[in-house]
Amino acid sequence: MESAYTLAAKELSDIQTENKMQMEYRHSEVCAKIPDFLDIESELVSFGTLLLKSVLHNGKDYETIKKGIQEKQALKKTLLKKNGFPEDYLDEIYTCSECRDTGFVNGLRCNCFKQLVLKHIGTNSNLTELMKKQTFENFDFSLFKCQPDINGRSPLVIAQKLCDIGITFANSFDRTKKNILILGNAGTGKTYLSSCIANRAIERGKTVYYQSAYRLFDMLEQIKFGRSDSEEFKDISRYVYEVDLLIIDDLGTEFVTQFTTAALFDIINSRINSGKSTIVSSNLSFEDMRKVYSQRLTSRFSGEYMHLQTLGRDLRMKNHTL
Ligand SMILES: [Zn+2]
Repeated sequence: MESAYTLAAKELSDIQTENKMQMEYRHSEVCAKIPDFLDIESELVSFGTLLLKSVLHNGKDYETIKKGIQEKQALKKTLLKKNGFPEDYLDEIYTCSECRDTGFVNGLRCNCFKQLVLKHIGTNSNLTELMKKQTFENFDFSLFKCQPDINGRSPLVIAQKLCDIGITFANSFDRTKKNILILGNAGTGKTYLSSCIANRAIERGKTVYYQSAYRLFDMLEQIKFGRSDSEEFKDISRYVYEVDLLIIDDLGTEFVTQFTTAALFDIINSRINSGKSTIVSSNLSFEDMRKVYSQRLTSRFSGEYMHLQTLGRDLRMKNHTL
């Protein structure tokens, strides 16, 4: 099986070919209907040569040649219009206006290419069908109690605050380069909040990859130690560095080894350095994290991550407890 990157590059090249063929078809269509069109085009080519010569000879007749070119170009447009074609009918055709189908913008992978890679990875954002329905619009505040707990904190007020922070983050993380660490007990809405952010980011055309820490590090370990040849795993091991928004859910449920700790630090650190946002959620307290992971990792979480704390009883048990 070929890698998702190879398949994405092939698909991009197919898109380029298809658009080129479409251009050629349009051109022959126009030439068939407007017999003079080819002559005008060859005159334009001659003018182009003259213009180049003029530049090489201190701009001799430059303005006259330029005027000639403009007149021919205007004539082309007039003829197109007169014969029932749109004026821009022969302009270059691009499927992605951002990168003009090159797959790159300012030397970085264009979003259209990333989407193609995701499509071929097959996992796409990896959000489950249920998670795809978890949006800010569907956020159900009635699940949270209004009364403050013994510490004077109202789960409802906190949920509303988290929702507001989540919306702001989801709408701007690509500009602000912020990251989020969501801490809280099981079932208090950490994954739900992550899903809402992920869905909003996807709506905005950003690439998102969600994975539980357990599964992510299992895949990375299998690749690292040669226990798997899966192209998909290999793609994911590259993709976690490139995706616009990476969500690592349930940190602390993975088998913590020297390898997983180092791999986690590398992902977190590289993404900070390249200005890509990450959301990490965990049932662990920050104190527990300090014990489990390296100091250099928790110092990244301290310095570069917004810390959000969820509150409330297990929402998955709501029928029994609320
Ligand atoms: Zn593009």
